[in-house]
Amino acid sequence: MHKPDYKEARTRDKRDYKRMDFSFDKDILNKYCGKTYYIKTYGCQMNEHDSENISALLEKLGFKKVDSYLKADLVLLNTCSIRENAHNKAFGMLGRLKHLKNEKKDLIVGLCGCMAQETGVVERILKDYKFVNFVLGTHNMYQLPEIIDKAIVDNSMQIEVFSREGDLYEGLPVIRANPYKAYVNIIYGCDKFCTYCIVPYTRGRERSRKKEDILLEIDQLIKDGYKEVILLGQNVNAYGKDLYDDYNLGDLLEEIALKDIPRIRFMTSHPWDFTDKMIEVIGKYPNIMPSVHLPVQSGSSRILKLMGRRYTRESYLELFHKMKNKIPGVSISTDIIVGFPGEEEADFLETMSLVKECQFDNAFTFIFSKREGTPACRLEDFVPLEEKEERLQRLNEVVNYYFLENHKRLIGKTLKVLVEGISSKKNQYYGYSENNQLINFTSQKKLKAGEIVDVMIEEAKTWSLDGRS
Ligand code: SAM
Ligand code: SF4
Repeated sequence: MHKPDYKEARTRDKRDYKRMDFSFDKDILNKYCGKTYYIKTYGCQMNEHDSENISALLEKLGFKKVDSYLKADLVLLNTCSIRENAHNKAFGMLGRLKHLKNEKKDLIVGLCGCMAQETGVVERILKDYKFVNFVLGTHNMYQLPEIIDKAIVDNSMQIEVFSREGDLYEGLPVIRANPYKAYVNIIYGCDKFCTYCIVPYTRGRERSRKKEDILLEIDQLIKDGYKEVILLGQNVNAYGKDLYDDYNLGDLLEEIALKDIPRIRFMTSHPWDFTDKMIEVIGKYPNIMPSVHLPVQSGSSRILKLMGRRYTRESYLELFHKMKNKIPGVSISTDIIVGFPGEEEADFLETMSLVKECQFDNAFTFIFSKREGTPACRLEDFVPLEEKEERLQRLNEVVNYYFLENHKRLIGKTLKVLVEGISSKKNQYYGYSENNQLINFTSQKKLKAGEIVDVMIEEAKTWSLDGRS
């Protein structure tokens, strides 16, 4: 049994990690033919992509996917720790599974993802959720087949969580959820240690994949007919720093842009690491989508300092306007936290004024959530929850106003849309524009998912646009 340990998770040193090729233990290949599985994924795109690897690992064992946990022989929760409500959702699901297990004794229940890396969570599972068969950490997901096999064969709870990242595994199998848009990890972990954030503890230090491995994966995706690649990392701008002296996200984006792939996206970018070279490359190549997620978190330099964000309101705005000037037609989205410990009304008003200046194309807004083990958890928090909720509501009114205003400006314009699906209504389709807006549209022609078509925008809504092709 390996239980998580925050002290170790916080450690950053120059220890080498190796690049390893994943290989499957032949003895358990197809051993569970006839059994079914269900994965419940919480949280970010990283987790969604991890679930694509988990699906493939389970199918190699012989499991087949079902569309409800009630029908499954194995239920796996791929969890998120970023805010308390993500925790509550996963524990709520564990509660439902506890009841199910009373009726279905052979049900296998596993928990993986970020919550598995938290000491408090593992203690709670050991105490109150003894029916859970296994807990697997984020650093050793490649061990999933053997852990499941051990949990079933030994009929005992398996806890395998490494607090320090191990080797970087290549060649994990994958079953992608979308046949046209593919997630590609370029960097794991985070070294920024923003004071509110749990990610550096749950995902370990920044580890970049070798550029050759990334380019090879993209070549294969192109051969398989993918139209869009989304480069993933908690902080993609740090790409390459741990591996190369002179090769960064700008260079990687440029190499990918020269390939025959119509759409490239990347997320998430920390404003601190955004170089001029990256801006230049994004502006230069039409297949790098002009859409940047640039979380600001707060408009107050005082709060940004307490958050450990390494930039000020002024330097964020400078970067924001530089991007707007140098990347033609760029849309910029953001994340904002309200109610950080010590946030005064005056700080909040600075956030509101920054939002009014930036008029973001999209924004994810959150109330600060205390995460055990992070420095912000120890800060005195004197703002009552009702006041934080009221600030969030005021903020949402303003961000929503600009989403709609930005959308209204597109009425009468023609946008390129990657068709993702056909709605239940006749001749109705949906897809995403280059600026990552959701477009619902009609077409008299029969369209196929994966096509990129021109759509004339006719109506603006807050979170989507309607049009005609
Ligand atoms: N790495 C990205 C960055 O730094 O911009 C963000 C990654 S995090 C998964 C996504 C967002 O969750 C953050 O940008 C932040 O707004 C929010 N978040 C993280 N920790 C939080 C906390 N303790 N309470 C509320 N929101 C939080
Ligand atoms: Fe969390 Fe900050 Fe790292 Fe983003 S950059 S994952 S907010 S610590």
